[in-house]
Amino acid sequence: MKRPFIIAVDGPAASGKGTIASGLAQAFDLPMLDTGLLYRAVGVLLARHGGDFDDVEAAARVARELTPEMLTDPAFRTREAGEAASRVAIHPPVRAALRKLQQVFAHRPGGAVIDGRDIGTVIAPDAPAKLFVTAAPEVRAERRFKQLKAQGEPVTFEDILADIRKRDARDGGRADSPMVQADDAVLLDTSQMTIDQAADAARRIVEAARARWEQDPG
Ligand code: C5P
Repeated sequence: MKRPFIIAVDGPAASGKGTIASGLAQAFDLPMLDTGLLYRAVGVLLARHGGDFDDVEAAARVARELTPEMLTDPAFRTREAGEAASRVAIHPPVRAALRKLQQVFAHRPGGAVIDGRDIGTVIAPDAPAKLFVTAAPEVRAERRFKQLKAQGEPVTFEDILADIRKRDARDGGRADSPMVQADDAVLLDTSQMTIDQAADAARRIVEAARARWEQDPG
């Protein structure tokens, strides 16, 4: 049985991984899942039901009831949703509840692009192509600031930089943190790159992985 061609794209908040993953999905004609949306949906829906982010059981219940059809709400793309996501994402039962959906998506027979924090380590350690996309916090804050301003959010650069630093600490600051670069992931630091350059670099890395996979699909 040929191993599906999964492209795992991990990295911190606003590293450009979403744009890179979309570009890869287009270039390799694969479906894509932005797993940040799952955690954002859990955070926002929990808050809408009056739940507390520290209530592990309530958050896990929302996660268990989540379906892919529920992910289209634009409210999941706001700054507040990103903060809510990182509050619920620290609970292991929430991560466990979302794991199956992500694994099924990633392992569909034709392959997939899937971006997040723990795709290369937990969701699809068997992925033939793994990228860990990063950039300096100031660069990521600038990108996210522009994006949120374009969405009409009343934000300042300083607020966003503070958010990014807080989220980095929450997502990657502990021994059991979800965000760890897989040993076999290729590191792509986009600090000095335009988004087009980053997308090109990512495509080249994946083309090389694809050639290896075609030789030996495992
Ligand atoms: O990538 P995005 O900014 O949409 O993710 C929002 C938050 O969801 C992250 O800061 C992280 O706490 C959490 N997340 C996660 N695991 C993923 C995707 C997102 O813990 N696979």
